[in-house]
Amino acid sequence: MPRKKKDRTVNQPPLYGEFKPTGVAAKYLNQINLNLDEYEALRLSDYQGMSQEEASNEMNISRPTFTRLIENARKKLVEFILTGKKLKIEGGNVHFKNNVYKCFDCEQMFVSDIKTTVVICPTCSSSAIKNLAGSFGHGKCCTDHEF
Ligand SMILES: [Zn+2]
Ligand SMILES: [Zn+2]
Repeated sequence: MPRKKKDRTVNQPPLYGEFKPTGVAAKYLNQINLNLDEYEALRLSDYQGMSQEEASNEMNISRPTFTRLIENARKKLVEFILTGKKLKIEGGNVHFKNNVYKCFDCEQMFVSDIKTTVVICPTCSSSAIKNLAGSFGHGKCCTDHEF
């Protein structure tokens, strides 16, 4: 029997989900998809400077799986920079531990535990709030997931 594909832990949703070179209309650009687990691998290893051992623990995956993830992620990132495509972060077998909210009125972003739903901006009390986990198609699945 094939082993069930384990869901990977991503600390929080990316602040920005799409990138493109300036001066070229998006419709002319081919797209690269960076999965959320690849994004998290880059963040932990190449931004925070964790060892592969630490980073794989953080994401709840094996060390060889992490190595594959980070290698794919680096390839995609360098392809994006060198060939001028657009890059979209989406997909991957993941759940978020924390959520990020963005206020449309004061532009503040704030982090909250995934189990806590924020409906009012703590800075300006606006209710025009964007739920970033939601925009990546997550929410209840993360709340129900055991980390
Ligand atoms: Zn606000
Ligand atoms: Zn989820």
